Amino acid sequence: MQPNSSNNKWFPKTVYIATYGCQMNEYDSELVRSILKKDNYEFVTDELAADIVMLNTCAIREHAHRKVYGRVHSIRHARGKDNPVMIGLLGCMATNLRQDLLEDRSLKIDFIAGPDSYKRLPQLIREASDEGRKSYDVTLSEFETYSDVYPSRTQGGVNAWLAVMRGCNNFCTFCVVPYTRGRERSRSPENVVDEVRRLAAEGFKQVTLLGQNVNSYRFEDHDFAYLMDEVSKVEGIERIRFTSPHPKDFPDRFLDLMAANPKICKHIHLPLQAGNNRILTMMDRTYTNEEFLDLVDKIRAKIPDIALSTDIIVGFPTETDGEFEDTLQVAAKVGFDSAFMFKYSERQGTIASKKYPDDVPESIKTERIMRLNEIQKEITHLRNRAHIGQIQTVLLEPYPEAKNPGQMPGRTDGNKLVILPLGPYKGGDFIKVRITDATPHGLKGHPV
Ligand code: SAM
Ligand code: SF4
Repeated sequence: MQPNSSNNKWFPKTVYIATYGCQMNEYDSELVRSILKKDNYEFVTDELAADIVMLNTCAIREHAHRKVYGRVHSIRHARGKDNPVMIGLLGCMATNLRQDLLEDRSLKIDFIAGPDSYKRLPQLIREASDEGRKSYDVTLSEFETYSDVYPSRTQGGVNAWLAVMRGCNNFCTFCVVPYTRGRERSRSPENVVDEVRRLAAEGFKQVTLLGQNVNSYRFEDHDFAYLMDEVSKVEGIERIRFTSPHPKDFPDRFLDLMAANPKICKHIHLPLQAGNNRILTMMDRTYTNEEFLDLVDKIRAKIPDIALSTDIIVGFPTETDGEFEDTLQVAAKVGFDSAFMFKYSERQGTIASKKYPDDVPESIKTERIMRLNEIQKEITHLRNRAHIGQIQTVLLEPYPEAKNPGQMPGRTDGNKLVILPLGPYKGGDFIKVRITDATPHGLKGHPV
């Protein structure tokens, strides 16, 4: 900490930020960096050297939540009395648990800022440090999109995350996002395209458009297809990805654009959540398993080489063995290239937490996720093996050579990881690669 020349008080100047959860949180941490750097804060990579440690939290599952509590205690413990530190919580957990966090004396949180309050961080920090009072702002906004903040990105210039919309109006019964991130709102296409142009000028090759519900993007008369088309016109950006979409918003117009536009990567993350119609209704996902399978057929008819990934929840309240089998069947029918699998975790404030007791025992959830995992691993391996012998265009990722000596990682258009022998290339190069081998985790190949 440094003395403040005007009143000889000590005030914090160095910041360490740790990010939990999704890419949206990664992006938000970049916004926070930008906002605080403007206020002359300096970011450090050593947590022990920081005056302020901020945790950008996730509230999506209990596990994420517990990790944050553990981290706060371990920071306090590591620093002791002689090396004080301010601790701030940002993100979804902040919104959801403001009261608990401020009142929990053992945690000693100094300030809290929800996802729509990051512009107020300099003020919140000042209130907490100068006046020694706990400060917070977790107000959700109907308008805040941070379109006037250019994120301070730390990644090495190949892929840039870019939030085009924030919030969610869907209220799936298990999900806390609509409560922690508020209502849907989108940035104007011009504003997004301006940022993409700037990224291209800085040498980025790929942008990933982000939103909790990204394909529900709407600004005045412009939909997500329009936005993607505009972004794809930016010279220098060669690949465009998006995540996470909802299955309800895939009009033909958008799929036709995806099929025709070589810059839009042929990969869709299509969250299934469950394969049984009673559970899907209880989740309020607004589609049946038949409709989901029809959508997959339509996507594959229009874009035959599409890679599909998904999210699946096991052990939603009252889910029976038979209903879980339906999920396995749908997953096998689709043959997803990869899947994120979660045990249902009751979240405070959600519709499910009020209507449906979390009655599937933990042991059953564990059994189900292990079975799903086993089956999905085989499917992923099979899908990966189908690429052996193909020539794929691979975008090399920035790689710390020391981590895997003699190897370079890259991604196919379908977002599959390819490991290559080290060559005269650098992160950001596109190279043609022959796929020589496949595992359940990715591909191996040689430049051709
Ligand atoms: N917007 C996306 C969609 O419509 O599916 C998902 C975004 S959510 C932040 C990421 C994933 O976390 C969800 O797809 C879901 O599988 C999982 N998830 C959300 N709430 C959960 C809960 N209460 N328990 C377990 N998994 C959950
Ligand atoms: Fe949560 Fe996604 Fe449903 Fe929105 S669409 S409530 S973010 S799972």
